[in-house]
Amino acid sequence: MRKCRVKVVIYEEACKSCDLCIDICPRHVLAYKRPLLKPIVVDIDACTGCRLCELLCPDWAISVEMEDSRVEVR
Ligand code: SF4
Ligand code: SF4
Repeated sequence: MRKCRVKVVIYEEACKSCDLCIDICPRHVLAYKRPLLKPIVVDIDACTGCRLCELLCPDWAISVEMEDSRVEVR
């Protein structure tokens, strides 16, 4: 059985803390990290891999990676 895992990576150096990705995420995967107010992943299991956050980030500071993995089912 093939299972797809999602990884959301935030590049803090490039991020301008505009909060667009937090507002746009339909699954509330992202939240603020204080005190710098940079986004962090708080619920990766809820992420559908829709890539909205990646596509709409004005600073290319977030990327969504899909990892394929094979799970043995007996
Ligand atoms: S949309 Fe991009 S620049 Fe804005 S808070 Fe998210 S990662 Fe940072
Ligand atoms: S890929 Fe979609 S569901 Fe996952 S964090 Fe980005 S906007 Fe949210």
